[in-house]
Amino acid sequence: MDISGPKPELLARFAAIVGDNHVLRDPQDLAPHLVEGRGLYVGSSPMLLKPGSTEEVSAILKLASETGTPIVPQTGNTGLVGGQTPRSGSSDLIVSLERMNRIRDVDPVANVLVADGGAILADVQRAAEAVGRLFPLSLGSEGSCRIGGNLSTNAGGTAVLAYGNMRQLCLGLEVVLPTGEIWDGLRRLKKDNTGYDLRDLFIGAEGTLGIITGAVLKLFPQPVGHQVALAGLNSPEDALNLLERASNLCGTALTGFELMPRIGIEFATRHIEGVRDPLSKPHAWYALIDISTSDSPETAQSMVQSLLEQGFEAGMIRDAVIASSVAQQKALWHMRESLSDAQKPEGGSIKHDVSVPVSKIPAFMEEAGKAVLAAIPGARICAFGHLGDGNIHYNISQPVGTDKAAFIGRWREINEIVHGIVLAAGGSISAEHGIGQLKRDELAHIRSPIELDLMRRIKKAFDPAGIMNPDKVVAIP
Ligand SMILES: Cc1cc2nc3c(=O)[nH]c(=O)nc-3n(C[C@H](O)[C@H](O)[C@H](O)COP(=O)(O)OP(=O)(O)OC[C@H]3O[C@@H](n4cnc5c(N)ncnc54)[C@H](O)[C@@H]3O)c2cc1C
Repeated sequence: MDISGPKPELLARFAAIVGDNHVLRDPQDLAPHLVEGRGLYVGSSPMLLKPGSTEEVSAILKLASETGTPIVPQTGNTGLVGGQTPRSGSSDLIVSLERMNRIRDVDPVANVLVADGGAILADVQRAAEAVGRLFPLSLGSEGSCRIGGNLSTNAGGTAVLAYGNMRQLCLGLEVVLPTGEIWDGLRRLKKDNTGYDLRDLFIGAEGTLGIITGAVLKLFPQPVGHQVALAGLNSPEDALNLLERASNLCGTALTGFELMPRIGIEFATRHIEGVRDPLSKPHAWYALIDISTSDSPETAQSMVQSLLEQGFEAGMIRDAVIASSVAQQKALWHMRESLSDAQKPEGGSIKHDVSVPVSKIPAFMEEAGKAVLAAIPGARICAFGHLGDGNIHYNISQPVGTDKAAFIGRWREINEIVHGIVLAAGGSISAEHGIGQLKRDELAHIRSPIELDLMRRIKKAFDPAGIMNPDKVVAIP
């Protein structure tokens, strides 16, 4: 890595592309863009550029390729693997799409919405709602994350069970290649078998192959009926059995099935304002069930009631509550979405974003729990997540009264233990957050030589000058 960095004259040429008003140089202004949310990575950069158009992005990347200047794309800066953070000790330039935040077009008949890469996810959801449609991607960070980042991380979230992740929600892309060329792939087609799927290469590439400046997104009818319930359970096994019943009973109306441990509810009620324990007695595990129907509210109501009745009869459910208002539905989801934040006041937390085949979740939980507690007695395991997708955020809070730095220092050791169990179960070490800087070296160990070689060849073909988000996802020797 060349740390001497671009000369002032070169920085001035970059600044001239976007205009001085749209450049950050002051260390104080740059500071929030140099660190990712958990503080795991702190990078350095002499300049952040805010282009206002695809043509300006193109001019930036053309100049970067010609001069060998490394570029880091950043949109909402909510990514959890350090992909959007410039490298420590580097002179990487940050390109932020925050000015490119328009909804370009909404077509409720064709069920598509076209947005800039910098459009905020919540704004896209609202634009769809305004024409009676649903854009179903839903994340805890939806007020700040942006479409370019959602696509580049192939974001998942809480409705993947019914609607899929970002890859399934995108029809077309506009991308500026590292050379500055613009690929207009803003197609609105559901069926398009014309050669290699370039779109799918950019989705999930974490900004290593180009900058996504626009996207055609799929919309869906707004649900007519919506029910949310919380069930108290004894074990992940009971949760899995309940999930199977819910899938059989509800089919595609089952839009969410989230698993939460008791300790998560305790953290949330202790630290998150407005969160109350919804059930009168504590239970070891909880399932949050979300049902959306397109025909009538009564269908959703009868589905949730039948499911809970069946769950009680089969002895899977110990207690349950059905949200009786939209406010209560939101409160239940708020509790689930606050689990990460609720862990922060409890000290250090070693995190994993893993997936295993759904039927293997109970065995995974048991084996990982034993192994983690053998390594760190007293560790507080707060494993929660999207059970319906086999995706668990296997987070571990430090034992009470221990040293935070010493605990966090064991991050890699604990990752190896948990990931070893995940891989043996045929799972993935990154279900939805990506690779970034955090898991790059691990990826190099777990993917076969041919897969790594193909990834490197793709990277070199798209980015011959090696300027796009270097050292993220896959290292180029
Ligand atoms: C509270 C919270 C909850 C979350 N919940 C979920 C969840 O449920 N599911 C989930 O999947 N993720 C979740 N995340 C992670 C994160 O919000 C998502 O990964 C999100 O999609 C990132 O979007 P962003 O705009 O913040 O991207 P950034 O953080 O800015 O960037 C992420 C990556 O994409 C690249 N990138 C950004 N913009 C572009 C672009 N225009 N073109 C090319 N590359 C680009 C960056 O270089 C980086 O590698 C959560 C995060 C938080 C803080």
